[in-house]
Amino acid sequence: MKLSDRIAAIPPSATISITTRASQMQGEGIDVVNFAAGEPDFDTPQFIKRAAKAALDAGDTKYTPGSGKELLAEISKKLQRENNLQIPPRQIVTTFGAKHAIYDACLALLDPGDTVLIPSPYWVSYPEMVKLAGGTPVALPTGPQNNFKITPTQLLEAGSSAKVLILNSPCNPTGTTYTRTELAEIAKAVLKTDLIVFSDEIYEKLVYGDTKFTSFASLDEQLPQRTVTFNGLSKTFSMTGWRVGWAAGPGEIIDAIKRLMSHETTNPVSFVQAGALAAYSDPQAPQAVESMRKQFEKRCGRMTERLNAIDGVKCVRPTGAFYCFPDVSSHYGRSIGGVEVTDSAGFAQTALAKARVAMVPGAPFGEDRCVRLSFATSMEQIDKGLDRLEQMLS
Ligand code: PMP
Ligand code: GLU
Repeated sequence: MKLSDRIAAIPPSATISITTRASQMQGEGIDVVNFAAGEPDFDTPQFIKRAAKAALDAGDTKYTPGSGKELLAEISKKLQRENNLQIPPRQIVTTFGAKHAIYDACLALLDPGDTVLIPSPYWVSYPEMVKLAGGTPVALPTGPQNNFKITPTQLLEAGSSAKVLILNSPCNPTGTTYTRTELAEIAKAVLKTDLIVFSDEIYEKLVYGDTKFTSFASLDEQLPQRTVTFNGLSKTFSMTGWRVGWAAGPGEIIDAIKRLMSHETTNPVSFVQAGALAAYSDPQAPQAVESMRKQFEKRCGRMTERLNAIDGVKCVRPTGAFYCFPDVSSHYGRSIGGVEVTDSAGFAQTALAKARVAMVPGAPFGEDRCVRLSFATSMEQIDKGLDRLEQMLS
C-alpha cells in the first residue's frame, strides 16, 4: 500500500514511543525505572474529578456548542488574572490537548514555503507538526553555554524571511525559563519583524527557585495581535489523559482553527469541559497546583545533583518544567557494558538494556550530546534510577 508522502516523512514521536516501550516492559514484570514519561505522576485532584463525574451523571453527554461558553469565559478570566492578558472568550478555542491546538494553528497559518523558527533543543513534535502543515522548520541553535536560550540577534538574523517563531518557556526538554527581561528583548526583536509568535506556555506553573513566569504576549501592547498563546491542563493539573488544551490569540487565527475543528473533531468532550471549568474556577485549585510544584522542585534538585555527581555527565539546573537534559557525550566512543555507544540513541538504548533505566535520546529534540530524563516520578525512583546509571557509567 502506498501511504501519503506526507505521513511517510514523519517519524513516530520519540517521547511517546519510548514511554510506551518502558510501560510495556513494566507490564511484563521487568523492573524499569521510567524517566521517559513527560507527564506528572500525581493523580488529578479530586475536586476536578468530582466536577466531571457530576456532569456525566447529570446527562452532560452530547455535542457541545463551541468550546463551551462557561469554560471559555473562565479561561479568559484566568488569562487576565494570572497572565496580564485581556483576551475575550471569542478569541479562545479549546482543543484535544495543547498538542492539537499547536498543530491546528500550523494548519491554519502555513503554506508550502513558509518557514517556522524553532529554538533548538525543541519539543519533538514542533518540527513534525510544521512539516505536516506544509511548512519548513528552521532551528535556531542554542547550547548549555547560554542556558539553552536564543538571543535577539539570532532572531533578527533569521526573522526577516520567516512567518512564525515558536517559543516554549519553560522549555521541554531543557528546563530553561526565560526571564522577563530576556523575553522583553526577544519581544523588541520580534516587533522589528513580521513574525507571528506561538507561545507554548504549558509548563507555566512549574518554575523553581526565584524563577518567575511571564506570558510573552503581555510584554507589549502590540504583541496580542500577533501572538497565539497555547496552554492546557495536562501539566498544571496532572490531567494528561483528559486531553484538554487551548489556544488564545488573534480572532482571525482562532476563527480559522474553529472552522478547521468543525470538520475535524467537533468540540471538546462535554464532561471533560466541566472538569476543566472546576480546575480554573475552584478555590482549591491554587493549593493543589502549588503542592505538586513543590514536590517537583525537590525532585529537580535531587536529580540535577545526582546527575552532576556522575563522572562525565554535565547538567544545567532546570528552572522550570520537569526535565533534566544532561550532556552525556563524553561517554560516546566508550564501551558501556560491552556495547559501543556513539550517540544519544545508543546511550538511551544501553541505559534501558543494561541498567533498566528509560530516558529519551536528545537527537529527536535536536541535540545529540544530551539525553532527557523526567523527574515527574517519586524520589525513591529518582534515587534508584540514578544509582543504576551511576553504576553503569562507573
Ligand atoms: N507543549 C509541550 C512543550 C509539551 O511538552 C507538551 C506535552 N505533551 C505539549 C505541548 C502538549 O501537551 P498536551 O497535548 O497534553 O496538552
Ligand atoms: N510532552 C510530553 C513529552 O515530551 C508528553 C509526550 C508528548 O506528547 O510528546 O514527553
